[in-house]
Amino acid sequence: MSQAAVNAETETLSYSEECTGKIYCANCSHCKLITSPAGQDQFYLRVRCDAGKWKKKMGEEKIHKYFTVSRRSIDSCDAYEPMGDEEEYMRELRKTLPSKDESYDRYY
Ligand code: SF4
Repeated sequence: MSQAAVNAETETLSYSEECTGKIYCANCSHCKLITSPAGQDQFYLRVRCDAGKWKKKMGEEKIHKYFTVSRRSIDSCDAYEPMGDEEEYMRELRKTLPSKDESYDRYY
């Protein structure tokens, strides 16, 4: 095997390990977008796991800010239900996520 082939194989293995090493909750059907009140006529975007897997130390449900959803990853989950190609979905999601926690106007 040539040195170039060895290098290519090494890069492929590293890439593969990186891609399969964790699960992104954002690509799971249990990861739900919800709203949270932010004063009068405004709301924040939050995400929750409707399979009940996100817990605080004392057992209450943990809710995360929407703009951080691409960072929610875990090694494994018995309730994971992927919604499609993870790489492509996460790439598109990162392009559209707000960069900070923003409030939005509520329309009735
Ligand atoms: S079910 Fe598991 S993978 Fe899906 S959102 Fe909840 S913790 Fe993440």
